[in-house]
Amino acid sequence: MQTDFLIIGSGIAGLTYALKVAETCPDKNVTILTKAQSDETNTKYAQGGIAGVMDFDKDSFTKHVEDTLIAGDGLCNKRVVEIVVQEGVERIKEIIEWGAMFDRDPEGDYKLGKEGGHSESRILHHKDVTGKEMERALLEAIKKQKNIQLLTHCFVLDIITQHHLGYLVTKSTPDIECFGVYVLNLSNNKIEKNFSQHYLAGNRG
Ligand SMILES: Cc1cc2nc3c(=O)[nH]c(=O)nc-3n(C[C@H](O)[C@H](O)[C@H](O)COP(=O)(O)OP(=O)(O)OC[C@H]3O[C@@H](n4cnc5c(N)ncnc54)[C@H](O)[C@@H]3O)c2cc1C
Repeated sequence: MQTDFLIIGSGIAGLTYALKVAETCPDKNVTILTKAQSDETNTKYAQGGIAGVMDFDKDSFTKHVEDTLIAGDGLCNKRVVEIVVQEGVERIKEIIEWGAMFDRDPEGDYKLGKEGGHSESRILHHKDVTGKEMERALLEAIKKQKNIQLLTHCFVLDIITQHHLGYLVTKSTPDIECFGVYVLNLSNNKIEKNFSQHYLAGNRG
């Protein structure tokens, strides 16, 4: 199989990337491979909610950064925390635009939770199944994009690089290129090759 963009994983990382690249490049094909059913992801099991500064009257990026650095107890890279805290709000708004519904109070304002380590209420949630709601919304959004296909029960075994052409490739080899992946198709137990110009591993596992 040949595709323009190949994405491994159908959690929040893989699905949001797929949506963005499909919208940016409407004439290109995007293929998502995932090893189980489409929603079987860590994303679906996230419960508590997603943190972001939503009420700038009471909260601020500075406070969220400070809370995160204290909770991280010296292990955090401050620059990365700043990027995640500041850009996270935009990413949350994108998920809302793609259809995720977070709980609101009778006035229509978001019901923001306050979890351990946070000095202000800044946790958006959907009951206690926030991840399930985000996964639902993203999968619905994917279905509406004609240039995205999602293939389930495709277990990626190996990434195809120059080492499959006989070159020695190690972790420190510069400019490692990825041409595609070897996949175990769990529907027919066959090994298949998937080639792509662009590749993203959208999973942490
Ligand atoms: C119980 C639980 C509660 C959590 N609660 C929260 C919370 O309240 N707030 C919060 O912010 N975070 C929470 N998290 C963390 C959050 O869920 C993850 O950080 C986030 O979902 C990771 O998203 P992802 O897209 O990177 O990975 P995932 O959602 O795990 O997606 C990975 C994808 O890759 C696929 N995949 C993996 N290996 C292969 C392979 N070899 N071949 C093919 N496909 C493969 C998987 O099937 C899956 O589709 C929680 C996590 C868990 C498990």
